[in-house]
Amino acid sequence: MAKSLYDGMRVKPGKKVHLGKWDPADTHGWDEEKAREKTAGNIEKIAGLQRVLAAQGERGMLIVLQAMDAGGKDGTIRNLARGLNPLGCRVAAFKAPTPEELSHDFLWRIHKVCPGRGEIVIFNRSHYEDVLVVRVRELVSRKVWSKRYARINEFEDLVASAGISIVKLYLHISKDEQKRRLEERLAEPKKHWKFNTSDLAERDRWDLYMEAYEAALSECSTKKAPWFIVPADEKWFRDLVVSEVVLKTLEDLDLRFPDPPPGLASVVVK
Ligand code: ATP
Ligand code: MG
Repeated sequence: MAKSLYDGMRVKPGKKVHLGKWDPADTHGWDEEKAREKTAGNIEKIAGLQRVLAAQGERGMLIVLQAMDAGGKDGTIRNLARGLNPLGCRVAAFKAPTPEELSHDFLWRIHKVCPGRGEIVIFNRSHYEDVLVVRVRELVSRKVWSKRYARINEFEDLVASAGISIVKLYLHISKDEQKRRLEERLAEPKKHWKFNTSDLAERDRWDLYMEAYEAALSECSTKKAPWFIVPADEKWFRDLVVSEVVLKTLEDLDLRFPDPPPGLASVVVK
């Protein structure tokens, strides 16, 4: 099953994405209880592999999360991070750039916080905002943002060439599901802090965002840094898919504990 969910959600390089063909409520025939069990098992395996990744110190992993507001980035991180050792793991969140960040190229703030070898880093939003919100809001001209797809591909190739595996997950929710989640944030006092009126202005531009996502997913899914479209209306299925993709990526690294120092067998601790 691991392979089929992984392959089923992966955007093949060069393939044009039409999000209308990807059902956000799809659960691929899974039932919730079985999916939760499988996810828990996957998280345990991921934790075990993280230990080897850190010990070996040769490979790293970058997990990019993108979604519309209320798309479930926070919940996904909470679930995934459950099993990870904080010593070898970081989360980096990207908000509107500061004046200092704006005074550099758009990848400057991203490159600085990419994982080193032995590390796993999760991006909560990413350099893709520079072809999403920036494109939709026309924060720079088309001439500028349209060149960014190629720059992103080059950048990710550079990062990957240093031994960092990259997976990019687009959490795909429907406009109706976003409505439900935003209404819940309004209705539930404990969720009020999550409600942001500016999310409504972005929601008004839903179709433009879908177009921008389609372009990013179509232009920037590469062999070394593939995009995955994760059906995310059902949180338990979203978590299953994310855990499958991360686990398969780690398994494919063929990680091994480093060889012991020579002569270890004859060492005696007195
Ligand atoms: P939550 O889902 O909890 O609201 P969030 O990721 O939406 O989390 P916010 O602080 O609400 O966090 O939003 C961050 C905002 O920063 C988003 O609206 C995003 O579009 C914006 N942003 C991120 N990167 C850029 C960028 N390069 N240029 C302009 N805006 C950006
Ligand atoms: Mg927000």
